This record gives sequence, C-alpha cells and structure tokens, in this order.
Amino acid sequence: MSTTPDSPADQHTEDSGGHGNLTYFIIGAIVAAIAVALLLPALLEKETALTIFHTVETGGEVFLRALMMMVVPLVVASVMSGILGLGDVRKLGKPGFTAVAYYLSTTVLAVVVGLVWVNLIQPGKNSEAKPPESEEVVVTTENKAELLEQLEQQTGLEKEKLAKLFPVLEEGLPGKGPDIGTIMKGLVLMLFTDNLLHSAANTDLLPLIVFAIIFAGMLTTMGDRVQSITTMIGQINEAMMSFVMLLMNIAPIGIFCLVASKFGIAQAEGKFLDVISETAGFISTVLAGLGTHAFITLPLILWFFTRKNPYRFMKAMSRALLTAFSTASSSATLPVTMDAANEAGVSKKSTDFVLPLGATINMDGTALYEAAAAIFIANITPDFDMTFGKQIIIAVTATLAAIGAAGIPEAGLVTMLIVLNAVGLPPDAIGAVLAIDWLLDRFRTATNTFGDACGAAIVDTSFETEDASP
Ligand code: ASP
Repeated sequence: MSTTPDSPADQHTEDSGGHGNLTYFIIGAIVAAIAVALLLPALLEKETALTIFHTVETGGEVFLRALMMMVVPLVVASVMSGILGLGDVRKLGKPGFTAVAYYLSTTVLAVVVGLVWVNLIQPGKNSEAKPPESEEVVVTTENKAELLEQLEQQTGLEKEKLAKLFPVLEEGLPGKGPDIGTIMKGLVLMLFTDNLLHSAANTDLLPLIVFAIIFAGMLTTMGDRVQSITTMIGQINEAMMSFVMLLMNIAPIGIFCLVASKFGIAQAEGKFLDVISETAGFISTVLAGLGTHAFITLPLILWFFTRKNPYRFMKAMSRALLTAFSTASSSATLPVTMDAANEAGVSKKSTDFVLPLGATINMDGTALYEAAAAIFIANITPDFDMTFGKQIIIAVTATLAAIGAAGIPEAGLVTMLIVLNAVGLPPDAIGAVLAIDWLLDRFRTATNTFGDACGAAIVDTSFETEDASP
C-alpha cells in the first residue's frame, strides 16, 4: 500500500487495485444511504427521521473534515515536490502550457455541450414555468444591490448618490453588474495573496499553488544548501499520501453518513423527490449535458492524446468520482483523486501539480451547469428575450465564473450571479435552482474531478515527450 513516486512500474497499472474492493464498498454505501434516506422519512415521523439524519450527519462531517484538513499541506507539499522532482522549474513550461490549454478548451467545450442540450430541451419554456420566489432567496456574496436598497430606505438618499459615496457598492446599481474586465481583474488577483497564512486558513488554494511553484523553483537553484528542506518536502508529501490511504479505509462509512444525512434531510423536508419532479426538465438537461461531457467528450479527448482506454481509466478513478459525488467538493476530494490517479498509472510528476491546480480552476461540470441554468432561468423569466448574442455572453461568463468558483459545495451557485448579471437577469432569479442545486452539485463535482484526472493523464504524456528530448 505505498506509492513509489515516478517508478516506471507505477505507470500503466490501471486497476492494479491497491485498495481491494474499496470502490464496491463505496458504491454499496451510496446505494444503502439513498435507500435509508428514502425509507426512514416514509416509515418514521418527520422529527424522528430528522433527528436520526442529523446524528448521522456528524459522522459525515468528521470524514469531510478529515479530508479537508489534508488539503492545504498536501497541495503545498505535492506541488513543491513535483517541481523539485523536475529539478528545474523551467521544465514545467510545456506541461504547464498543456495543462492550461486543456483546462480552458475542455471548459469551453463543456459550456458548448451545456448550451446545445439546454437549447434542445428548452427546460422551463412551457410546463414547469415557476418564477422564483424572491423572499426565500439568500443572496450571499453579491448583496450589494440589497445593501443599496436598505441604505436608500434608511438614509433617504438616492442609490446613485449612495454609490458615489461608497464606490464599492456601485455594482449594486441596476445594470451595473460586473463587466468582463472586472471579472478578469478578479481572476488575476485570485492568483496572488498578501497573506499566505490567511489563504491557507481559508483553503484558498490558488495563491498557495503560486507560492509553492515559486518557492520550489527557487529551491531547485540553491543546490546542496537546501538539501534538507528538499528531502523534507518529499517526505512530507509521501507521508501525506499514506495518510490519505489510511483515511480511505473508513471512506465507505464516511460516505454513507454524508449521503444518508444529506439526502435524508432533503427527503424529510420535501426537497428531494418532490423537487426532482418539479424541475425534471432542468435536471434532465443538466444530467444529459454532464453525461455527454463525462462519457463522450472527455473520453474522446483522453483517448486521442493518450490512447488509453478511457472507460478503464474512469473505472480506475471511480473511488475519486464517488467521493466527489458524496462530498460535492473537488477540493475535499483532491487527496483521493491524487491517490486514485497514481494508482491508475498517472505519474506523480503530473498528478503533483495538475490535480491541485485542476481542483481549483478546472471546472467543466460547473461551467456547463452555469450556462444551462442561466438559460433555464431566462426561460422562466417573463418577457426575457434570449438572443444568440446573449448566449455567447453566457458562454464566456460561465467559463470565467467556473474558473473563479472554489472547489467547495455549491460554489457554482454563487459565481452564477456573474453570469445572470452579465445578461441582465435579476440575481434573485437564482431562487429557481436553489432547491435542487445541492443534488446537481454532486454530479457536476464528479464531472469536474473526472476532467482533472483526464487532464493529469494527458499532461503526463507531455512530460514523457520532454524527457525523451534531452
Ligand atoms: N462543488 C463544485 C466543486 O467542488 C463547485 C460547484 O460547482 O459548486 O467542484
């Protein structure tokens, strides 16, 4: 049960099964959890069922926290040891370019797939038209419009004047949503932090990755003087991976608790089967889109570049995909993704930096979802005219919004406000997808994770070519 970095024997050992029947146990846990989630509320009183599910929730939370507590040290150690293993940060040039090109092109492809499906199915057009109930909406980050509204009432000053006094609130003015320039600025600034510890404390991975690349790159130029630090980073990385494997032993229990509690609470509160039937058109659109991307587009790309059997690769990655489904967080899943990808034959050279970066910025499922959801919302918004130009704006902003979304549950919902704003849809229209987001989030997170894994396998081939040319 150990990963030996970079040994050639490590390569092409798909399905070598270092975890025995773990995947089957995880599948069993998910099926059992969904059965319990559906049965208990039917058999017991609502309050009793909820009490049981809230108790079970603690077990899930423990597993989730155990995964999350590994993410920051694992990302820093793995990115650093990846660069140190290369021996020179400049060798990251071609793989780095391949990774970024892969992330961008697959995200755009995902958006296109989402747009094609949503235009075909047209969810919400006739049947399930149900304008959002704004009172129930909790707008989290983008509450500037709301603040302006409140201030206007409290001070009697007009919104425009208030926005001049408090420029930070300007985006809250009607029609003053963030433009592409503002979004791009935000994305660039996301790469850098003025306080590394603050970023670590918030699991803000992007600046940590940037720091790790620069720091390790510098170490590679310092030779023997930094030998102990270099060795130590490699050892921390290996120890962290062993920790992940240890945690995998309790994964089926953790996953059972996570899924049973989340689905059970939703079912007891009428937010599972009922909501599914209410928004069936939208759900099928998203699932058709995610399915097309995960089972056709990504496998084709993977096969084209690696000539690996994509479905065997998917099977080898299944424990990471199931963890992604259960946690709804690609960051929390990252330790499992790294472990599974190594076992699936992707070299540590590649997984060490492609997966942490991918878990942070490569979100195909999220991009697809945001594009499809925006059109669904437009369909149910009375008198909203969806032109081809607006669909292009949705495509661009959904790509950027997905890059900006964190790898945590329902992060896509927050960045979707950027997409809605860009085409002039009201932010509170998001209420239309709020009730079902927790469920669809799981499918898009699994798609995100599979996209990251395929990226690592593809970038791996660019290392091989580079090694071949001295
Ligand atoms: N939960 C997703 C992830 O972690 C992000 C999102 O789409 O909300 O990848």
